[in-house]
Amino acid sequence: MAKKQFKAESRRLLEMMINSIYTNREIFLRELISNASDALDKRYYEGLTDKSKNVAKKDLWIRVNTDKEARTITIEDTGIGMNEKELESNLGTIARSGSAEFRDALEKNTSKIDIIGQFGVGFYSAFMVAKKVTVDTRPAGSEEAFRWVSSGEDGYTITSIEKDAPGTTITLELKDDTDEEKFGEFLEEWKIRELVRKYSDYVRYPIKMDVTKSIPDPTDESKTIDRKEEETLNSMVPLWKKNKSKIKDEEYNEFYKGTFSDWEDPRKVIHYNVEGNVSYTAMLFIPGKAPFNFYNNDYESGIRLYSKGVFILDNAKDLLPECYRFVKGLVDSDDLNLNISREILQQDRQVKALAKSIDKKITKALEDMLEKERETYEGFFDDFGLNLKYSIYKTYGADKEKLQNLLLYRSSKEDKYVTLKEYVERMTEDQKEIYYACGSTIEDIEKLPVLSKVRSKGYEILYFTDAVDEFVIRMMMDYDGKPFRSVSEAGLDLDSEEEKKAREAAAEENKELLEAMKNALGEQVTEVRISSRLTEDPVCVVAGEGMSIEMEKVLSQDPMNKGMKANKILEINPSHPIFDKLKTVFSRNPDALAEYADILYDQALLIEGLPIDDPAAYARRIADLMVQAAVPEADPAEPVEAEVVE
Ligand code: ADP
Repeated sequence: MAKKQFKAESRRLLEMMINSIYTNREIFLRELISNASDALDKRYYEGLTDKSKNVAKKDLWIRVNTDKEARTITIEDTGIGMNEKELESNLGTIARSGSAEFRDALEKNTSKIDIIGQFGVGFYSAFMVAKKVTVDTRPAGSEEAFRWVSSGEDGYTITSIEKDAPGTTITLELKDDTDEEKFGEFLEEWKIRELVRKYSDYVRYPIKMDVTKSIPDPTDESKTIDRKEEETLNSMVPLWKKNKSKIKDEEYNEFYKGTFSDWEDPRKVIHYNVEGNVSYTAMLFIPGKAPFNFYNNDYESGIRLYSKGVFILDNAKDLLPECYRFVKGLVDSDDLNLNISREILQQDRQVKALAKSIDKKITKALEDMLEKERETYEGFFDDFGLNLKYSIYKTYGADKEKLQNLLLYRSSKEDKYVTLKEYVERMTEDQKEIYYACGSTIEDIEKLPVLSKVRSKGYEILYFTDAVDEFVIRMMMDYDGKPFRSVSEAGLDLDSEEEKKAREAAAEENKELLEAMKNALGEQVTEVRISSRLTEDPVCVVAGEGMSIEMEKVLSQDPMNKGMKANKILEINPSHPIFDKLKTVFSRNPDALAEYADILYDQALLIEGLPIDDPAAYARRIADLMVQAAVPEADPAEPVEAEVVE
C-alpha cells in the first residue's frame, strides 16, 4: 500500500504537534468533538433541506470510548462523513491554513504555541497525544467507506473498508507515558468526563460514553458490582439559550475558544436577545487578538447562523458589516427560513433587518466599551482600529457618523490616545480647526519643523501614523463642524494681523529673490514664499491645492500612480540667518542663488521623508559648500603635532 506524503506545511505542522511541549494538550478532544459536531450539523441540515435524506435527530450523536489495554481513545460520530477525495484533501493538507502567512509563521517558527493557536489547526492536534491516528469514514448517502491512517511525519495511507453506518470514527493510539507526561490519563473515565464538561458541554448532540457504575450486587446486597452503562456527558443546552446572568465568564471563554478555534479568551462578549420584527439571540465575540491573516484576502468573516437552534450556515457575511468583520459569533433566530442559502441571504428582507440590528448592537457595545472600559477599548483599537478607518474610507464617508466617535489618535498633548470628541472639547477658544501632522512614526512627526508654530499657539495636533489616516479625514471632511487641517498644508494660517502684515511686507520686499528661487527650481514647486509656520528651521515644503505630501508618499508606492505628485510650495523662514545669506548671495552673485535654492529644496524634501531627484548632485553641492566654508586658521603658537615626550 503506497504511502502518501503530507504537503510541506502540513508536515511541518505535524512535526510541531508531535514534538509539542504545549501544556494544554488536552484540547485535542475539544477539537475532535467540535469537528464531529460540525459534521453532524451538516448531516442534519442536509436532511432538513432534502427530504429524501431525512435523518432523525436521535440518530445523530457522538460517542467517546476508551480502551486501556490497547491504549486507545475513539471518537465516533454519525455525521456527514467524507468521501475519498475529501479525506485526502481535508486531512492531507491543512484545510484552512495553507495561506502564505501561515507558511511564513511556520518558517520563522518563533512561538510554536502562538502558531498553533492562531490558526486553529483542529484535527492535527490529535498528534499532540497520539502516536498513530486512524480515521474510518463513510459519507452519508454512499456505501463506500475509507480508512486513513497516519503515524505522523512519514505520511498517510488511504484504503477502502467496510463500515456499517455513515459517519466518522477516529481512533487515537496514545503516546507512551514518560516520567513527565502521563498520556494514559486520557484513558480514565473521570478525565474524559471532565474534559467534555469543560470544553464541549454545549455541543448540541449527545456525547455518549460507556461509564462504569457501581450497583448493588443482586446476589449479595452488602456488596456492589461494576456495570457498564451508557451516559450522556454533556448538558446539550446551547450556551446562548441560557440566562445571561447565570453564565460565568469562564463559560463564555471556553465556548468561544472551542467554537471559533482561538487560543485566547475573547476581549469582549456581546450577548443579547431581541424581540420584535425579527426576534433573535446573538452571542458575539470580539477576539482578544487580531488573527494573523486579518488584513488579508483569505480572512473569512461572518457569523454563524442558526434557526431555532438548528445550524444553517457558517461565515454568513451578509450579517456583519465590513467595518466589524473582526467579530466572531452566532445568531439564532426563530423567524428565518431553514432553506435559506447563501445566495438568498443577500436579498432576504428578514436577514437585512437582522444585519441592521446586529450592526447597531455592535456599535453600541463598542461605544460603551470606550466610555466605561477605556483600557480594554484601546487594546481593541490597537488590533482593529485600522479596520474602522478603512471602512470610513471605503464607504466614501458613509460610515462616518457611525464610526467617527470610535476613532483614537495619538497627539501632541500627551502620550495617550485621544478621541475626536475629547480633542474638540479641549480646543482653545480661538481654535477653529482640528490640526494634524503625518509621518510614519510619532518620533518622525515630532521632528517635523512645521509643528513648532502650531504648538507654540497652544493647539493640540493629532498624529497620523497610518497611511490611510489622511485619506480617511478627507472623506470625513470635518468633525462636529470643525474642519481638519494639516500642519503641512499651504492654507494653514496662524498669524495675527500684525504678523500677517510683517510677512506681506517681507514678501514684497524680497519679491525678486523669491521669484528668482522659484525660477531656479522650475516645475518642482508652484511657489517659493515666506513662511509663517517655521520658528527654528530654515525651510519646509508644504502642499498646495489637491494632494497632500503624505498622500503622495502613499500613492507613489503603487507603480500605477507614478508621477502623481502634490503641488509643492517651498517656504523659507525669514528669521533664520540663511535668509540673510540668500539676500546677500542674490544681490552680489545672483548666479549662485540656484545652487542655494536646490540645496534648500532638497533639504526640505528630506525632512518630509520624500525622495530627492538627484542625491549625488545634492551630496556634491554640500561637499562644495564644506570646502568653501571658512575654517579658522590654526594658531601658529599651538604645535600642530603632538609633542613627543622623551
Ligand atoms: P477545520 O475543522 O478547522 O476546518 P480540521 O483540520 O480540524 O480543520 O479539519 C479539516 C476538515 O476535515 C474539516 O473542515 C472537515 O471538512 C473534515 N473533518 C474533520 N473531522 C471530520 C469529521 N469527524 N467528520 C467529517 N469531516 C471531518
